[in-house]
Amino acid sequence: MAKDPNCIFCKIVAGEIPAKLVKEGENFLAFSDINAQAPHHMLVIPKEHYPNITEFRDAKGLGELFLAAADLAKEKGLKEGFRLVVNTGADGGQTVFHLHIHILGGRAMTWPPG
Ligand code: AMP
Ligand code: ZN
Repeated sequence: MAKDPNCIFCKIVAGEIPAKLVKEGENFLAFSDINAQAPHHMLVIPKEHYPNITEFRDAKGLGELFLAAADLAKEKGLKEGFRLVVNTGADGGQTVFHLHIHILGGRAMTWPPG
């Protein structure tokens, strides 16, 4: 499950389509969301293709992704807070089926989410 040739995020990892990269690690990539929903809106993805969080069974890998997201929020100066979101499946509002963590910040969030 290393790569899906039809997956837009795999293409970003492969450098086949452009993205505004903000951070890279051995196993993850972070880039700006193309349709920002907040002043800061970034995505953290594993370089390998996993369709969603239920398919990624590696606790260390999952931990690294969340640490990267938290570090990035800190590096971006989101001192007042931020939100991490992992949309999963149709009811979860997932539209790109390559696991990703949204980092949203720079404005107050509302609850409950839509
Ligand atoms: P989700 O609905 O949780 O699957 O989120 C997918 C996110 O990917 C959306 O917020 C999109 O705006 C974002 N997105 C889709 N294509 C790209 C792209 N080429 N570069 C950056 N972000 C993208
Ligand atoms: Zn993919």
